[in-house]
Amino acid sequence: MDLGLRGKKGIVCAASKGLGRGCAEALAAAGVDLVICARGAEALEMTAAELRNAGVTVTPVVADITTEAGRTPVLAAAGPQVDILVTNAGGPPPGLWSDWSRDDFIRALDANMLTPIALMQAVLPGMMARGWGRVVNITSQSVKAPIPQLGLSNAARTGLTGFVAGTARQVAGKGVTINNLLPGIHDTDRALALDGGVVKARGITMDQARAERAASIPAGRYGTAAEFGAACAFLCSAHAGFIVGQNILADGGATNATL
Ligand code: NAP
Repeated sequence: MDLGLRGKKGIVCAASKGLGRGCAEALAAAGVDLVICARGAEALEMTAAELRNAGVTVTPVVADITTEAGRTPVLAAAGPQVDILVTNAGGPPPGLWSDWSRDDFIRALDANMLTPIALMQAVLPGMMARGWGRVVNITSQSVKAPIPQLGLSNAARTGLTGFVAGTARQVAGKGVTINNLLPGIHDTDRALALDGGVVKARGITMDQARAERAASIPAGRYGTAAEFGAACAFLCSAHAGFIVGQNILADGGATNATL
């Protein structure tokens, strides 16, 4: 399917690895010129070089997207025309509800709520003026069903979800859609880190931890960054203009809910 995106310009945040990279790959394959960012330069440069094989322009910016000092060069590299914004950042650390201090919450809110909001505030006016735009926020299945050890994520991402629910309906009339894509377990470094926590806590092997996790997912496996990226690219496509303010699970059926 031609996604109708050739020549569009996009930003994909936190895109040197994992789900962000999967989104960048799918958008590059659809002909989108990209600005991508991450904190580590080496993986970012490698990813940019590989994305260029699709024949698009890719500008890597080494930046911590959760800080204003990081967002400024990312937005500057993109210039005045941003047609597509994919927001993403590392997830908050796991822990127990009673452990977290105010500072822990502020860090999580900064990374997973206020950063995507600041990025949307920066690019939405231009999208609305041009009459076309797509925003996809990478959130988490924890928005639909809380994950006990990820209370910081449950809280921050739900705040973002509320903001998107209201804002998406205020910009849709100008041809701009905002949607959230909710990953369940995907085979990335983040999943490895979380599985590592289970290995430590329960004294089991990594293979056991992964087999147990896979068995808990109706699809019987972890998702891949490539299939997540393809879903993201579709939400950014010309065909998805009537999908507004939705929270779309990509979780292999893990969230046991009728709606
Ligand atoms: P990942 O494999 O660990 O990759 C994270 C990517 O983001 C890397 O490129 C990393 O590069 C970059 N990054 C992290 N923090 C950043 C920051 N502050 N500024 C700029 N770049 C940053 O993680 P993932 O699995 O793709 O997860 C992406 C998001 O989805 C996370 O918020 C995660 O919590 C959420 N999620 C993931 C899963 C899953 O199963 N994978 C499930 C639910 C939700 P640098 O480290 O070099 O900056």
